[in-house]
Amino acid sequence: MTHEEAIVDAIVIGGGIAGMVASNRLVQLGKTTLVLEQGAEAEYLCNSRFTGGAVHVGFRDPVSRTPDELLAEINSRSRIAKPELAEAVAHDARRVIAWLREQGVRFAKAGAEEYKAWVLMPFRSNSYGLDWRGRGGDVALRTLGQVLLSRGGVLQRGVRALALDITHPDYVAVEAMEGDRKRQYRARAVVIADGGFQGNPDLIRKFIMPKPEALMQRGAGTGRGDGLRMATEVGAATVGTKRFYGHCLSKDAFENNKLWPFPVVDPIVHAGIVIDGSAKRFVDEGEGGVWVANNIAWLADPLSAVVIFDDAIWRGPAAKGVMAPNPNMISAGGHILDAATLSELAAVIGVPAAALVRTVEEYNAACAAQTLARLNPVRTSVSDKPMPILKAPFHAVRLCAGITFTMGGVAIDGQSRVLNEQGKPIPRLFAAGCCTGGLEGGPTGGYVGGLTKSGVTGLRAAECIAGYTA
Ligand SMILES: Cc1cc2nc3c(=O)[nH]c(=O)nc-3n(C[C@H](O)[C@H](O)[C@H](O)COP(=O)(O)OP(=O)(O)OC[C@H]3O[C@@H](n4cnc5c(N)ncnc54)[C@H](O)[C@@H]3O)c2cc1C
Repeated sequence: MTHEEAIVDAIVIGGGIAGMVASNRLVQLGKTTLVLEQGAEAEYLCNSRFTGGAVHVGFRDPVSRTPDELLAEINSRSRIAKPELAEAVAHDARRVIAWLREQGVRFAKAGAEEYKAWVLMPFRSNSYGLDWRGRGGDVALRTLGQVLLSRGGVLQRGVRALALDITHPDYVAVEAMEGDRKRQYRARAVVIADGGFQGNPDLIRKFIMPKPEALMQRGAGTGRGDGLRMATEVGAATVGTKRFYGHCLSKDAFENNKLWPFPVVDPIVHAGIVIDGSAKRFVDEGEGGVWVANNIAWLADPLSAVVIFDDAIWRGPAAKGVMAPNPNMISAGGHILDAATLSELAAVIGVPAAALVRTVEEYNAACAAQTLARLNPVRTSVSDKPMPILKAPFHAVRLCAGITFTMGGVAIDGQSRVLNEQGKPIPRLFAAGCCTGGLEGGPTGGYVGGLTKSGVTGLRAAECIAGYTA
């Protein structure tokens, strides 16, 4: 019988980490499983292959921290996390790591920072630009792919799922294209794991910002929102679709592939100020690079954003940490604009000089008087300490928002069941990974962790389908 003739227990749409966790767990629990992956190559691209590989929960160690500590971290970051999703991640993050290790996926501690306690092996090299071949995400996907096949699961590459038919009482039909040929597959349950809608300009325009062309893809861009569209066509609700996970990049990244996904400009943003084309601040830089990137995307002219800083920031925070902008941004060919005075810097970047001087003076005065909380927009110091901009030469880097994945998406419950507008599960339909919403986002863009979210929702989808209770 061909895959099209059979009714399998489960079809998983997407072969990223969420899909590979779900499918492997399904076959492990005795379920016949077919993965449909749109990428045709053996090393099909996806965010899981590009990943930095740090499995964390809000930058906390999922193993040494208690579930209560992790829950508190998720809630303080996201502030909108649906309780059952937050609890799922807080409780199951360590189980995901243990389970992945049982399947042969390798981890090691990659540094002293807490979020680096569990990083997929081998680590990414300390170099700018893309570096995925033979690194942790790539190896993890290949390992999970081999285990899947060895257990009788099927990974069908080059097949793009496009529509669902949920009208039959006994199965869900998945309409797909393989090249220019129409395909139809049937399963008693379907897990959507297509990675999000970051690669779909129309959905970006609809949900996030009016100018998707001003948003830099900081990932594989393979998530084209098919999952979100398919799910909503059969009645699924969506949640939190305005927020995305990403970072502030040099605007030069549009022309220079060495400037993404690393180095990011966030360390400079955290210490200095970010202005728009009128030389005014428009965001609390202290909330971190993810939040600033979202706010850049929401500007009327997203490519007008510039970070302003002085030489003390350039030699201090900009030069610290892995893949620091100083010197990596320059070595990679990115531009930094310099001037002896703020007025001259204004002329170089093309903003009104008086306005730039006023913005910097207000900020410096607030730094000195410790009244940053009274600035408009307020300036906190959640990420790094804000520093005054005093020491010539003064510098600027033109910014763009880099999108890695969309944080909102298909509404699910704690068992990864897709929910309709009334909050009720749609029979036989599940979603996992970065196509789901309800965990991350919130008022300041709280990021919890893409790999953990994918692993936990993938595991839970599989276990719910198989009727397994942990
Ligand atoms: C540079 C970079 C660094 C990162 N670093 C970290 C990190 O250190 N820690 C962390 O937690 N997260 C990190 N992330 C994020 C993390 O990698 C992702 O959140 C995670 O890999 C998403 O997994 P996923 O399975 O949901 O999506 P993906 O890995 O994108 O997989 C989705 C798959 O679905 C396929 N697909 C899409 N549409 C269809 C369709 N219609 N039919 C069939 N197949 C389809 C795609 O081709 C793709 O293979 C990073 C991401 C990037 C890009």
